[in-house]
Amino acid sequence: MLLKMAQDAKWLLNWRGLPPAGAERRHRYHNLLLTSGLAYYNGRIRHEELIKQLRDFYSGDLLKSLQSEIGNQSQPWPSRMLRQDRLSEIQPPLRHLLLMTFLESTAEQFFTTFEEYKPFADGPWPCLNPAAKHFQENIINTCRITNGHKRNKGRPVGLFGCDCGFRYLRVGPDRYERDRLRFEKVISYGAVWERFFTSAWSDPSITLTDLGQRLNVIPFTLRRHAIRLRLPFPRPGRWSRPTSEEVIKAYSNTLQTFQGSFEDRRAHWLTVRRQNPKASRKQLISLAPYTYYWLSRHDVEWLRQNSPSALMSNPEPPRVDWKNWDLLLSKEVRLLSSEIRKSPGKPIRVSKEEIIRRLGHRSWIELSLDKLPETACALSNCFESRENFLFRRVCWTEEYFIGKQHCPTLHQFDVRAGTRTKLGDARQVRKAIEAALTRLENRLST
Ligand SMILES: [Zn+2]
Repeated sequence: MLLKMAQDAKWLLNWRGLPPAGAERRHRYHNLLLTSGLAYYNGRIRHEELIKQLRDFYSGDLLKSLQSEIGNQSQPWPSRMLRQDRLSEIQPPLRHLLLMTFLESTAEQFFTTFEEYKPFADGPWPCLNPAAKHFQENIINTCRITNGHKRNKGRPVGLFGCDCGFRYLRVGPDRYERDRLRFEKVISYGAVWERFFTSAWSDPSITLTDLGQRLNVIPFTLRRHAIRLRLPFPRPGRWSRPTSEEVIKAYSNTLQTFQGSFEDRRAHWLTVRRQNPKASRKQLISLAPYTYYWLSRHDVEWLRQNSPSALMSNPEPPRVDWKNWDLLLSKEVRLLSSEIRKSPGKPIRVSKEEIIRRLGHRSWIELSLDKLPETACALSNCFESRENFLFRRVCWTEEYFIGKQHCPTLHQFDVRAGTRTKLGDARQVRKAIEAALTRLENRLST
């Protein structure tokens, strides 16, 4: 490890190039972290996991000898190096070399031959709308990448949207050239597709089978779309089969046409604005959260033009998914509580401080516990009163002297158990100690 660092340092000292600036440097680190599963495609970094793995990767002694220990501070140096808001902060070059080494990169690679990992390669990407004239032509210029959920966890999901309204998702990364013509799911078919389908539906010379082949879906799916688009049933032509009322009913309430949704949501947003002329953007969002969310995903430019300007002096704090965290943390608190109780050696009190030390998220626990009701409940249930803790110490001390085969004096017992405190004088505690001493005497004198 030291040899590798020395080689990197030597290269760096001889290099006369211009190092990438803060944002570009972070981008490169983020990209390397992405390939190690330590970052999200939305740009965020899994700081806690990163710290944990760094600790496993480097021995404490090595870090200490390089004056780069990762302590229990809330912002250890690797996190500070990667925080967006601390990019101008200067860190010792050695720490950068430590991070690069951990990310399996040499300084030379990092600074001069860095190659960005792109799970969907470079654009433009093809439109996969079989109803469009530009089918499979490379005309989509942007691809939004997010993290997959559930069975696609850890994998990138690309959202590709063409101007014709056809939008699809693909789970990556792409392995072969042909993957570019594949999609997992259509998010919206769009106006071009819907227009083509509508006219083909009412054309009796086209059979459903042919149309299905043309649009690359099974005939039943076609029927579903016809119901969704409220097209006439049964379709004209001698092969048409009647469709049961039940099927029609079941699919009538599916998604609106995409264009329809656009219009409805825009109208809703404008109505909310009209009714609340003085409301800030934030207030409007709280009045119509889903509409805002929908428009921000599908129609962001229109939304920007039709919203009060954001108050720049008051940036929105990063949103925390409290509900999820609450679930996670409360579970963790319960686990930690039993872990602390079971820890070998001298008993450790299950205190708020001890739990926070192991759990992290100090500021949340100290300042935002009202947003974490389950966690608050788990905490208050697992705290150990001083008195109970003393009882536990008395039991442990008894075991300790049994192990030593030594019958202690009261003073020795008190010292070992840590009961020479004010609370240790409580009647119940004294009683427990006396009982323990009697048991020890009986047991060890025979
Ligand atoms: Zn298209």
